[in-house]
Amino acid sequence: MVIIMLGAQGTGKGTVAGIISENTELVQLSTGDIFRKNIKEETKLGIEANKYIAKGNLVPDDITVPMVVGYLDSDIAKNGVILDGFPRNLAQAEKLDKILEERGKKVDLVVNLTTPREEIIDRILTRRVCSNQQCKATYNLKMHPPIKEGICDKCGSKLIQREDDSNEEAIQKRLEIYENETAPLVEYYRKKGVLRTEEVSVKINRLGKQVAFDIIKDIKDK
Ligand code: ADP
Ligand code: ZN
Repeated sequence: MVIIMLGAQGTGKGTVAGIISENTELVQLSTGDIFRKNIKEETKLGIEANKYIAKGNLVPDDITVPMVVGYLDSDIAKNGVILDGFPRNLAQAEKLDKILEERGKKVDLVVNLTTPREEIIDRILTRRVCSNQQCKATYNLKMHPPIKEGICDKCGSKLIQREDDSNEEAIQKRLEIYENETAPLVEYYRKKGVLRTEEVSVKINRLGKQVAFDIIKDIKDK
């Protein structure tokens, strides 16, 4: 099974994907996390990718696509994946369809998370992530804070703010790129009949956690 998470920054894609993967056989594949791990370890890929990421730009497809294909073809992905952060533009989506088709697979479900604009910036600024690369848990200081301030509930490591989350200019740039390049994928997948749109908002009291458990239930009922 292949699930894709769509939605602007800060809508909770990582949180929803994380909960689904913890409760199913699917593994979460976050391109942002893979890049950040490589940046931390100062690999060649990381150094190259960071030139784009630090400014809030997309990493070029000729770096991103082969990296994703490598993961899709690896043993960890054999029971299915949730793609979190990929595809991010039409070219990546078309490539993905082709790659999956060659392997006798397809995109089974696209979860499109929407959040009112005014909540988004606030969510990004209050996002904190676990500094332990093996854990990568995500928190929100307002909506789901850690039990102990600054410390990850799951592994006890320090929580940090992502560099691109503390820079308001980079945030605006990322949201703009989302609107221009990623949002058209909503239509692309709607036409394919695999789109499931879910509003996540404190206003309607619907959080990512509930969305995730609704999806898990549907997966298991199938
Ligand atoms: P966010 O959704 O908050 O931007 P991510 O963790 O998904 O955060 O991605 C962080 C950065 O990594 C992005 O701003 C972009 O530069 C890069 N990135 C992640 N996924 C892709 C992708 N599929 N194609 C190109 N660049 C990507
Ligand atoms: Zn942790």
